[in-house]
Amino acid sequence: MPISRYVDPSIPSGGLDTSVVALTTDVVRGGKPVVGYGFSSIGRFAQSGLIRERFAPRLLRATGEELANDDGTNVDPFRAWDVMMRGEKPGGHGERCVAVGTLDMAVWDAAAKIAGLPLYRFLADALRSGHAGATPNAGSPIAPDDASTSVAVYASGGYLYPADDVTRLRDEARTLLAQGYTHLKIKIGAAPLARDLARVESVLALLPSGAHLAVDAMNRYDAARSLEAADALAGYGLWWFEDVCDPLDFDTLTAVCARYAGPVAVGEALFSDAEAKLLDAFGGVRRDRDVLQFDPAHCYGVPGFLRIVDALVRRGWPRAAFWPHGGHLYTLHLVAALGLGGCEMNPLSFQPFGGLADGAAPDGGRVAPPEAPGIGFEAKAALHEIFEV
Ligand code: MG
Repeated sequence: MPISRYVDPSIPSGGLDTSVVALTTDVVRGGKPVVGYGFSSIGRFAQSGLIRERFAPRLLRATGEELANDDGTNVDPFRAWDVMMRGEKPGGHGERCVAVGTLDMAVWDAAAKIAGLPLYRFLADALRSGHAGATPNAGSPIAPDDASTSVAVYASGGYLYPADDVTRLRDEARTLLAQGYTHLKIKIGAAPLARDLARVESVLALLPSGAHLAVDAMNRYDAARSLEAADALAGYGLWWFEDVCDPLDFDTLTAVCARYAGPVAVGEALFSDAEAKLLDAFGGVRRDRDVLQFDPAHCYGVPGFLRIVDALVRRGWPRAAFWPHGGHLYTLHLVAALGLGGCEMNPLSFQPFGGLADGAAPDGGRVAPPEAPGIGFEAKAALHEIFEV
């Protein structure tokens, strides 16, 4: 499926797309088989080849015993994940992690529907029970006492418009504030710095303070431009400065963290616990202020994301430092289940995948995940239509 950064899909948007999967089980509820839905989140490309050639066939070939929980009443998503990863070698995460994460999302949606629970509650129960499949998370500090039903969210968007940029950017920001969002994030890095600063100032004029606005440089800056931008942004007191340089350029990131006193946000383009540990060890990031944005769907799905959160929490990162990338209902459930800091939302960009359920809106910058069984994609009519085809 093609997806667009803009509400107006006629504006060229870089050809980004995403894969969509429906996983039909042989469990019947209300006279129909339970179907789990998943997609490849937002920001990496579709992974149809890997899904069709490698990961879906492994799931389809598996026996019921290999996929079911101990009492045979439901699919065990952790076992399904092990089946998908059979024969895969360590390392080489590339984007196979996105293919696995896409199917994994559908597996969790199906399993939570079979259990009759919203995903956040189903996952929190699995973690609290010390589910063996959640290893290495059994007994881990990341299993919260109770799943929170109220999650802090912010609205993401603010891509550079090819024409009337500042006017359209301001209109977009006004729309998001009117929807109930208190914190916004806009993109920089695609225009000369002076133009980006004008964009920042045009949105800041609508907000109570710099602490309500984050900027995302989309990993575009080299070493020199990273430091130049950091110096230029320092005076605004922004909420955070995200994706400054290449995701693996730890030298530059370290230099930025040493010079820029405000929070930086990192991690959305790193996909494994091994990479997360390298970031922590060599990226110069600061546990007392910086923000971690690993995207669960891009990080092999729930089991891979749990490994990352577990590894970093054990190394001293607060759970509140995690604000996962993605901007849709699936990440909202994971943030609630794990008691993380908060959740990105894409209320206008990447429709119909981004944002909350139809008619839902944040209150005071917070919102609860849907209470329907599963992820609740059915509560987004335009998205449900795509999954149903
Ligand atoms: Mg980003």
